[in-house]
Amino acid sequence: MSARKTLFEWVMPPGSGKAIELLAGQILRIEQVEGLQCVDFNCFNLHDYKEFMHCGRTRTVHGFNPTKGSFLWSAPPRERALLYILEDTAGCNDVLFPRCSAYLYESAYGFDAHTNCQDIQAEAQREYGLTPDDVHDSFNLFMCTEVTLDGRATITRQQTKPGDHVDLLALVDVLAVPNVCGADIMRTSNFALKPIRLSVFEATEADIAATPKTPILKSQRTPKDFRNSTIKASRALERDPDYVAQFVNFPIVLEEVSVELTPEEAEMLERLRLPVYGADAGAALRDILFAWWEERFLGAAQSGAPAIGDRAP
Ligand SMILES: [Zn+2]
Repeated sequence: MSARKTLFEWVMPPGSGKAIELLAGQILRIEQVEGLQCVDFNCFNLHDYKEFMHCGRTRTVHGFNPTKGSFLWSAPPRERALLYILEDTAGCNDVLFPRCSAYLYESAYGFDAHTNCQDIQAEAQREYGLTPDDVHDSFNLFMCTEVTLDGRATITRQQTKPGDHVDLLALVDVLAVPNVCGADIMRTSNFALKPIRLSVFEATEADIAATPKTPILKSQRTPKDFRNSTIKASRALERDPDYVAQFVNFPIVLEEVSVELTPEEAEMLERLRLPVYGADAGAALRDILFAWWEERFLGAAQSGAPAIGDRAP
């Protein structure tokens, strides 16, 4: 494998972040200098900031702890892979917890001016004209989290070492914004703030070859598909007197269809119908179809393989 060409290097001191233009085919390495430091991360389409990374979509596809082999997806209605995690030597990232904020430290701990990820992100993003309201839900790198049996998310101690890193390959041009998480009074970064090294590399052919392709679908919409593509400039919400609702697929029309089942499918239907759905055979059938779809489509989406084409009926 040929060596990657280094394009940019930066060390983020505690209390700071850095907005970086990361073009398609470039890799951002986020690296521990001393170890044990959490990093919060935002990213936007460089040419249209209204498209940004969506933790909800990302955790649906890759689970609560995305790692090597996961994509970072943008929010609906764009819903495409913005970045690919090419390497992750620590394997503890999180998309459950929100960024820490000034409010958190004041309300929970009584500190009214504590360093925090919301304010650091906002200041780093200001270099590109964004406002504090543009900071989005955070991808938390080097943050070890678990979900307890009673459904609560918890933070556990991290064990990262100097040199541990996450490599993010840009699939489209993005503004990538990492910051040193300000949480020094929690387990997040082991109760102390440390610097983080950033490097940008040109991806090699081997890097590109190691990246799976994601499906390109017509439902991944862009402003040219929007009924209203003008970004609102005023803050107050006022009713458009000319508005006429034009919902997609509306009104919903229900239609009866007959479905032929194999003996195995009929047996499965009976098994599911009686204890779970009772007389509602239609719901039981839809549940079976959903399970089939989940296995075939979600499994493929997780691996990034283009599953569409032989998608659910
Ligand atoms: Zn934080």
